[in-house]
Amino acid sequence: MEKSTLIGIVIFLLIILLGSLYYGIDFNSVKDKIPEVSGKKTIRVYFEPVNTEPKPDVTNIEDVSFRYWEERENVDFREVSSKEEADVVVKWIKEYSDNQLGYTLESKYVELGYGDSRCIGKWFPYDSFTTDRVLKHELGHVLGKGHSNESRDIMYHQLPKTYTIHTESVDNDGFNHYAYFSGDCKALREAVSQNILVN
Ligand SMILES: [Zn+2]
Repeated sequence: MEKSTLIGIVIFLLIILLGSLYYGIDFNSVKDKIPEVSGKKTIRVYFEPVNTEPKPDVTNIEDVSFRYWEERENVDFREVSSKEEADVVVKWIKEYSDNQLGYTLESKYVELGYGDSRCIGKWFPYDSFTTDRVLKHELGHVLGKGHSNESRDIMYHQLPKTYTIHTESVDNDGFNHYAYFSGDCKALREAVSQNILVN
C-alpha cells in the first residue's frame, strides 16, 4: 500500500469519526428534549381557559380521557398550567360552523367543539359523554393514531353527539336530553344520538 493511500484512509476515518462525534452530540441534545418518566413518554397538555359561561361539560379529564390512553399506550398525559411548557395546546370551540366535533393539527394543536345551536336553534353544550369521547379521539391523533374502520372504536371517524339541556329550559318535563338525527333534534328521556363526523 502506498504511503499516500494510507494517509488518505487515515484522514478519511478521522473525518468519519469526527463527523459521528459531532452528530452524536447533536443527536443527544435532541434526545434530551424528549421527556421520559420510567420509560413512558410524557405529554404535557395545556387547555386554553373558557372565560364565558357555560363552560364545557367535561368529566375529570385526568380520570377519564388521559387514563383511557394511559391504560392502552406507554404514555403519561399531564395537564400543565401554561402554554410555554406544553407539548399540546387544546382550544375549546364554542361552535363549529361546519358541524364538526374536533380537530388535531400536527399532534400539537387540538380543537374541541363543546356545543352548537343546531338543536332547536338554541346553543346548547354537548353532554360530558360527547365531550369526553371527542377529547379521547383527538388525543388518539396526538399519539399518531389514524381512523379506525370499526364503528365502536374511539378512533372511528364519527362519534355520537348528545346535548346537555337543563330541565328548567325544557318545556316537556323530564326530557332533558336532545339528540341529533339527520339535521333534526329530538327531545329524549335518555341520551341517544346519531353519529356526527369528527376530524
Ligand atoms: Zn379523527
